[in-house]
Amino acid sequence: MREHASTTAAKAGSEFRLGSWLIESRVLTKMPRGVLQPVQVHGSEIVRAADLVGQSREADGVLLTGSDSTRSTIVIRTADCLPLLLLGESQALALHVSRKTLVAGLLDQVPTVFDLSELREVYLGPHICQEHFSFKYQGASIIQFYKKYPWAVIQEGGLIRLSLREAVGDYLSDWKHSSTEIYDNTSCTYQAALLPSYRRALKQGVALITYLYTTLTVAKA
Ligand SMILES: [Zn+2]
Repeated sequence: MREHASTTAAKAGSEFRLGSWLIESRVLTKMPRGVLQPVQVHGSEIVRAADLVGQSREADGVLLTGSDSTRSTIVIRTADCLPLLLLGESQALALHVSRKTLVAGLLDQVPTVFDLSELREVYLGPHICQEHFSFKYQGASIIQFYKKYPWAVIQEGGLIRLSLREAVGDYLSDWKHSSTEIYDNTSCTYQAALLPSYRRALKQGVALITYLYTTLTVAKA
């Protein structure tokens, strides 16, 4: 297994190929046309790309397979959450990883929909880092996160800091095998001024007007 780290998307947009897939990371005010996007609800549902054609479905994961993949582009929209792509030869899964989708069990569903023996590339997009993802009061949902992912939590100075990356990392160590390559974008959305950050907008008292759209489509041969 090899790991690659980059901060490319801190430059507000990038396009690259991983295996047989084309990935675009774009900062936009609205969804690109002609792509299949679920209504993201911080839940655990994963749908097939075909389920999104001409209809709206609530989900936080989209699976692209076989005949779907030649024509469809799927997208996950984030602003601090972690866009996670799992890529195989003939299947790809795009996931919206947030503290809530983690607690809801989104990643626990993955082995039921994606053949992990085929996992070739993993892409972790820009997201808020642990230093900036801190909470003062431990509400019920923070306690649930702590109970499920204790290794992804640091408590210091009256704050509790959550790491989406560390929570995902534990799944990846179960899922990856010798030929899996991990591409990890290490940009923190809160810190990279060009990337949309829900928390930064909140702190500055401004409206969040752009999102990071991570799109996935089959690459032309
Ligand atoms: Zn940060």
